[in-house]
Amino acid sequence: MMGQIENCLGCKTLTGRINPPGGVIYEDDWWLVDHILPPIFIPGSVVLKLKRHCEHLAALNRSEASSLGPNIQSVSQVVQQVTHAEKIHVASYGEGVKHIHFLITPRTADLPASNIRLTLWLGFRRWLFKLKLSRREDPLAEVSELVNQLRFFITERND
Ligand SMILES: [Zn+2]
Repeated sequence: MMGQIENCLGCKTLTGRINPPGGVIYEDDWWLVDHILPPIFIPGSVVLKLKRHCEHLAALNRSEASSLGPNIQSVSQVVQQVTHAEKIHVASYGEGVKHIHFLITPRTADLPASNIRLTLWLGFRRWLFKLKLSRREDPLAEVSELVNQLRFFITERND
């Protein structure tokens, strides 16, 4: 891959040095979708990432930019369909991982509404996990099933 950055998490998943659970959900010439990496607190949370290393939306080429909106829409629809989420959160911060990517997260009825409450909820879960105060297992079987469904519906949708 041209322009790959050695320590970039986005590039590591794109080149197979790290394998997200369930494998690739969808890809076109410019974008790729896979599941978030463990520890997994919200099964069905996926990452839409640019297939080349680039850190600024302003630097997208015309094809990357024009395919972004339709991809966000179709991935959001399929995540909603499969997880029965009440709301789909789409976020791109690019602080920890600078490689352009969008987190597409199902906010189901059992999760706190509003981005601030959900962010605090996730932060608290990660903090407990880091301190080894929660002995949770990653729901990998559930994630694998969700990824299969997401792959099926997104392929069907795009045919
Ligand atoms: Zn990268």
